[in-house]
Amino acid sequence: NSARRPLIAGNWKMNVGGPEAMPLAAGVARAAKEFSRVEVVVAPPYTALAAAAHELAEAKSEVGLAAQNMHPEVSGAFTGEISAGMLRDSGASWVIVGHSERRQLFGETDEMVTRKVAAAIAAEIRPIACVGETLEEREAGQTLAVVERQVRAFLDELAKAPGFGVVAYEPVWAIGTGKVASPADAQEVHAMIRGLLARASIGLASATRVLYGGSVKADNAVGLLEQADIDGALVGGASLDAAGFRKIIEAA
Ligand code: PEP
Repeated sequence: NSARRPLIAGNWKMNVGGPEAMPLAAGVARAAKEFSRVEVVVAPPYTALAAAAHELAEAKSEVGLAAQNMHPEVSGAFTGEISAGMLRDSGASWVIVGHSERRQLFGETDEMVTRKVAAAIAAEIRPIACVGETLEEREAGQTLAVVERQVRAFLDELAKAPGFGVVAYEPVWAIGTGKVASPADAQEVHAMIRGLLARASIGLASATRVLYGGSVKADNAVGLLEQADIDGALVGGASLDAAGFRKIIEAA
């Protein structure tokens, strides 16, 4: 549907953090080789980044490695936190920022997400910046306003390196619930995001992949991915099984 290369990213969340990360990374590497038109990224927990990086290198794989979060400072007294430079040292070249679980469970604000996007880009780590409305916000008719506010927060940062960063639209009510946005509802929000990117610059709008996330599975991926402004998917639960994840890569 465009010149943008489809991107399928798997968010393992707080799962597969031990030795079992290696066979899963190897399985994803095999699947990605079959569909080289599609860019594939996996996001294991921090503790499995180095092992997954090793496995992907052994497989001579082009699958990208992402962390699920980072701290915006370079170093210092931030006990328990990880910087963009440390992600790079672990073999990651991507990072998910502002996931709704971070926003909801760990109090991340638009301002914090923006600092992370900026710090990631400064460290040459590619951010996947997540946005999305809650069920209450959708029912109150605030979907477009909420997502616009969230995207506007980091728009200027993305505009500094057009195409380097990625946006993921993930309606909170669709994450881990089995409820997926209809392709038309998702496309409406994606088109609005594309419009915001275009206000910063046409180049930013045409180069930036906007992913959909929220209960994406092999059987609903095609309808979503054929939408004009949906450039890929951020997949949670269905990314933990290499065979199921392969089918989503195939759908792209
Ligand atoms: C996610 O966590 O980014 C996600 C979309 O999860 P799930 O696919 O399990 O809904």
